[in-house]
Amino acid sequence: MEDRVAPLLLDWYARHARDLPWRTPPGIGERPDPYRVWLSEVMLQQTTTAAVAPYFAKFTLRWPTVEALAAADEADIMAEWAGLGYYSRARNLVKAARAVAERGGFPDTERELRELPGLGAYTAAAVAAIAFDRRAVVVDANVERVVARLFAIEDPLPGARKAIREATDAITPAERAGDFAQGMMDLGATICTARDARCLLCPLSALCRGRAEGDPLRLPVKPAKKAKPRRSGTAFWIERDGAVWLVRRAGRGMLGGMRALPDDGWSARRDGEDDPPVAGAWKAGGVVRHGFTHFDLELGVAIHAGDGVPTGEGEWWPVGQLEEAGLPTLFARAAQLVLAMREGV
Ligand code: SF4
Repeated sequence: MEDRVAPLLLDWYARHARDLPWRTPPGIGERPDPYRVWLSEVMLQQTTTAAVAPYFAKFTLRWPTVEALAAADEADIMAEWAGLGYYSRARNLVKAARAVAERGGFPDTERELRELPGLGAYTAAAVAAIAFDRRAVVVDANVERVVARLFAIEDPLPGARKAIREATDAITPAERAGDFAQGMMDLGATICTARDARCLLCPLSALCRGRAEGDPLRLPVKPAKKAKPRRSGTAFWIERDGAVWLVRRAGRGMLGGMRALPDDGWSARRDGEDDPPVAGAWKAGGVVRHGFTHFDLELGVAIHAGDGVPTGEGEWWPVGQLEEAGLPTLFARAAQLVLAMREGV
């Protein structure tokens, strides 16, 4: 059955490929720009195509080449990334762009791509296959789901990943591996989705063991959910003359390198307990609840009710231009709470 998958899928992909801004359509014989493929793959990790599209447009307008991105100020890149989450991806993006610019362009093999800083196994395989048409085994969440169903792989994730990878390897063709990978991604995004399996429309239905055994939606089997720890912390809103005090978070660690409201030092491992950056009275400005990958955070917002100069490094940022500060979602929501409270919303 393995060798029958690729022809059916490639034929389906030729007719049903999604039109995405980082792609070249199948069959026109033109390879996409590796910079755009790489950028889109980094942005798409843990995020949907709909969420990524406006960020991709902004980035490629401002930095149309990898050389332009390599020459950019890291703080500007972090600010443009704000809202996409998983900020370590943005920091790695800068490092990889600089390494690519230094060597005079993207390498065209999976092995060499893997050597670029911050470029993981998945991204290296995806760029090698899609941008350079190298045979590479590309397994993202969509492919993982399709393959688990196609081969009726019953082991729960993450343990099933090895078997899923081997099965994907067995169906990946020697030629047109890039179109094959994108076709599998599209099948998982539109036909064999997490919530639905539209088997009647699926090009692989005659081969699919999950379908033959009934109830393919139960695959892949999810791991039992562990309760995430809860952390609490406080963000401080200090305002003078229409400007709010913002700090730059330490380069390593949660939301590292991002502009933010000062806070009390909360992290994945502990509740916040540090003193505020300025003495005086505080009043409650509401609570933001935010889910990180490994913990949930309850962030109280404290509004400074006195005057005094905050200690430590920071900058006064005009409240009317806060949207341009590139605050990560958590702090943008905290700021919105304060502003909404002031307007009596
Ligand atoms: S036949 Fe159904 S379960 Fe199998 S791959 Fe296609 S949509 Fe998914």
